Amino acid sequence: MNVEILDILRCPYCGGRLELVESMFHRREGDQIHDGILGCQCCIFPIVDGIPVLHLLPAATDARAQVEAGRPDLARRTMFGLEDEAQAELFDQVAGSPEATYRETIVALGPTFEGGYFLYRFSDPTFVVADAVVRALARTVLRGRRRAVDVCGGSGHLTRSLLGLSSPAPVLADLYFAKAWLARRFTAPGCEPVCCDGNAPMPFARGAFGLAMCTDAFMYIWTKRQFVGDLERLVSPGVSSDVSAAGDGRQPAPTDGVVLIGHTHNERTWSPSHGQPLSPEGYAALFETMEPRLFGEAGLFADIVERGVLDLSRRDSPATLDADPALTIIATAPGRDASGVFARHDASARAPAIGVPSEFRLNPLYAIEPDGDGTRVRLRLQFPDGDYEEEYGACRRYLPETVTIDRASLESLPSSTLPAGLEDLARQRVVLDLPRQYC
Ligand SMILES: [Zn+2]
Repeated sequence: MNVEILDILRCPYCGGRLELVESMFHRREGDQIHDGILGCQCCIFPIVDGIPVLHLLPAATDARAQVEAGRPDLARRTMFGLEDEAQAELFDQVAGSPEATYRETIVALGPTFEGGYFLYRFSDPTFVVADAVVRALARTVLRGRRRAVDVCGGSGHLTRSLLGLSSPAPVLADLYFAKAWLARRFTAPGCEPVCCDGNAPMPFARGAFGLAMCTDAFMYIWTKRQFVGDLERLVSPGVSSDVSAAGDGRQPAPTDGVVLIGHTHNERTWSPSHGQPLSPEGYAALFETMEPRLFGEAGLFADIVERGVLDLSRRDSPATLDADPALTIIATAPGRDASGVFARHDASARAPAIGVPSEFRLNPLYAIEPDGDGTRVRLRLQFPDGDYEEEYGACRRYLPETVTIDRASLESLPSSTLPAGLEDLARQRVVLDLPRQYC
């Protein structure tokens, strides 16, 4: 972790600043802390493989003791949940190899680690909407001068959308150490991962962020009222705000930011992996200091795939919200000029990630079949299984059933830049820009 994020980290329990305990075991190189112990007024927390672990669940307590004992290698195994010796050795080997891919690393984590549909994440309909919303908000609100936090960011697929738009680099917060680690290594290189519990107060200073977001996870949070109160706090300056946006004194004083809760399920409809959702009014009532606006995701999705527009100026009726299985909520401070946020944003092209290397590849949902004399190939949309098709089948709205292309074009992939002639396929998401060493 970069030492400068100590400026925005706070103990989730006493709210105190955290400092590296120099008298205890630690490894630091320049501005990067690799392992060590952070202390506040009430307790101490470990930094494991560069990730501060700011909760007190059993694994964190064990890992803290291992760091204190000068065994950061064992602390990392503990945080990955690698109890089997052979599995742990295999993982250490894969994690230590610069050539290892995301897929290989997930396999090395063992069958209990949910890797699931990660391969298809960058083209699923939920991602298509969330990516457009995140980029539009980050461009409008952060303007490259403020920082974003992706709470429950998992392995960083949407944190990747914030790269280059959040400055300083975005923070990814997640309970699962393995996911935060994977995000920093593969999906969103350069992000600052923090391991913390979404059902506890968030370990960040008031007003530390211009955009605080949580996507595809809020329905699983039990302490919803506290969680939303905390998101509001993270983007709102207070009388005792003592944080500069970058910790270097050159940044403007914090001003009110924006809260985004994306893809949260609706109590009034059924959806797979339901969680404990609320009704639209129930969600709106959670906001006490900011004004929320709710959107049905079906409308946002249709605008994006049919017209290339993310229309946040729309006002969905109560009936529209009631009928939609998934909602997007954007909250702004009362009195803030939010006209730039609640506007029509261009979503015509899926822009590649900014400032990090990409690898253009054929969307893994396509099977390759021979066509004619062998100079051309047919790409056919093929779902991994019926469950995927049931949950994400709406991708048929933008992914064609079949496409025929030159074999030479196909053979130009993977490529670090988009090969000429494949622009249309990239627009349709048949060709995707993926993180390097993803698969
Ligand atoms: Zn404390």
